[in-house]
Amino acid sequence: MTSEFGTATSRKVVRQLEDAGFEAVFVGGAVRDHLLGKEASDFDIATSATPEEVKRVFPHTIDVGIAHGTVLVLLDDEPIEVTTYRTESTYTDHRRPDEVKFVRSLNEDLQRRDFTMNALALTLTGKLIDPFGGIKDLQSRRIRAVGDAADRFHEDALRMIRAVRFASVLGFAIEEHTLQAIEENAASIVHVSVERIKVEMDKLWKGADSGKALEMIADTRLSEHLPLFPDDDCLLSNCAPYSTAEQGWSALMLAGHFSAGEIARAYKLSNREKDFLADVQNAFARRQSSRFTIDDYYRFTLDVLIATEKVWQSIYPAEPGISILEMNQMKESLPIHSKDDLQVDGKDLMEWASKRGGRWVGEWMRKIEHSVLHQIYPNDAEKIKEWFLSEYEHQE
Ligand code: ATP
Ligand code: MG
Repeated sequence: MTSEFGTATSRKVVRQLEDAGFEAVFVGGAVRDHLLGKEASDFDIATSATPEEVKRVFPHTIDVGIAHGTVLVLLDDEPIEVTTYRTESTYTDHRRPDEVKFVRSLNEDLQRRDFTMNALALTLTGKLIDPFGGIKDLQSRRIRAVGDAADRFHEDALRMIRAVRFASVLGFAIEEHTLQAIEENAASIVHVSVERIKVEMDKLWKGADSGKALEMIADTRLSEHLPLFPDDDCLLSNCAPYSTAEQGWSALMLAGHFSAGEIARAYKLSNREKDFLADVQNAFARRQSSRFTIDDYYRFTLDVLIATEKVWQSIYPAEPGISILEMNQMKESLPIHSKDDLQVDGKDLMEWASKRGGRWVGEWMRKIEHSVLHQIYPNDAEKIKEWFLSEYEHQE
């Protein structure tokens, strides 16, 4: 079974490194996910060859992180990450190793990895290398730090967030000593860059067990040290599971009574994510006073409405909610879904009025958009023209 691991190209990369006299193995998440019976996508390779040696074996490579030992090998148009065995020494700032040292021993490389389930390696022939009991922990569905948990979190505090993100995605428990070390070191999360935290949070939100993971964030008091994280609030875990990261960020915003801008700044969200949150913020304000109106269904995407309603229902469980089906039907039943659906455009108006363009065109187009949306008249060029001519003459 395990001999079938990896894509044909990734297997070829391992074989060519071996043929050149080096060690090469599959490592990381793909090995773990394979043992859990899940599809893996990125097949990371670790090797005893130095980056320079890797580049001599393959004609096409890209230096993506050569200081950390990672070379991207391009073989048969497939990019494969190959990372030299390495150790990391003395972290003085809780987030970055002072020195990365390339080594020739796989065991030393596995030792620097965060959790036992992530410190497994698989050879081309299907042999598993498991120096820290990762398989046993996988079987008991347990996240356990490699070595002394407190030391490992002291080196790199992000590992605490990674622990809860794996708890969310895999539905695993965090082993007792590892959990205790998180409780004791929670405050050091402030040393980690928010960009790295966001990568893990995006994965955490989407995990099937995010509710439990969010409780762990509160229980370990990580919440007190994460940016804009409500700690006395179970809304976040009650709202879970989230089907997208945007839903999670929306819940965080609404649970803590923050604005879209505040969350976007604190977690360096993309503009697209920020716009989504701004829409949710507005939709939530609308929902506070009534059910969604025709204008709301027109203005907001279904995803925005779903994220908003999800949180609203958690806050007001006794009130009648709106189902996704109903929201979808309401959106579908609108006569138009955007301005582009209108049967007329500005040029038509100019022609009908025999007048040059100007601000008046936009104003009249907005009136038409509103009237068609509210079915005052149908989205029919002739009918719109009739209405326009009578109203326009009236007003001129
Ligand atoms: P995913 O499937 O979500 O990508 P993953 O385990 O592959 O999970 P990555 O962030 O892609 O996670 O990291 C790849 C591997 O690198 C991990 O399995 C782990 O062995 C190691 N690793 C990543 N981040 C750290 C870290 N902060 N400290 C120690 N080891 C790490
Ligand atoms: Mg990965």
